[in-house]
Amino acid sequence: MLIEQYDLEVFTPPCEPGAERYAARARLKVDISEVLPYLNATLRGAVYLPDAHALTWKKGGHNIAFHAYEIATSNVEDREGAESELQGLIDLVNRTWERRAEIQPDTRTRQRPSSMALYKLLPQTNCKQCGEPTCYTFALKLAASQRKLADCPPLFEPQYAEKLAALQELVIDAPAIGP
Ligand code: SF4
Repeated sequence: MLIEQYDLEVFTPPCEPGAERYAARARLKVDISEVLPYLNATLRGAVYLPDAHALTWKKGGHNIAFHAYEIATSNVEDREGAESELQGLIDLVNRTWERRAEIQPDTRTRQRPSSMALYKLLPQTNCKQCGEPTCYTFALKLAASQRKLADCPPLFEPQYAEKLAALQELVIDAPAIGP
């Protein structure tokens, strides 16, 4: 196991005093830089910055950052949620490290897709089945990881198969290896 010990800190971000959201940070005793290319290869939508030994990822509306000696998550509703989110991320790092022989590491830095790029791949019928007033509103939330592709039922109709495949390459719906 790579991460065996860490110090956990749960706090309200200083820029949001009194906010009902929490952030959590695990200070690590080992350098996890070597895992980052493996996470980059398996976490859809991750952005890897090799020079900074950092990888950022959005999952379910949380902003997550992996650094050499630290893992952090933000925008969590309560303390318990922040702790369990962070524990899941530590488990993810450990599982990824254990599986590294099966994974082709990836050192590329990818750009997050824009909401307009996502919109162009949606059905653009504004049918509202997703609960949003327009496909563009849905695209904005998709880009922010607040909605999933599965929330748009028409996308799974045969005529949109190519667009769906393209979106699945771009969108942070789920990790290839999940916490
Ligand atoms: S369900 Fe899909 S096609 Fe319909 S409005 Fe939402 S995003 Fe657009």
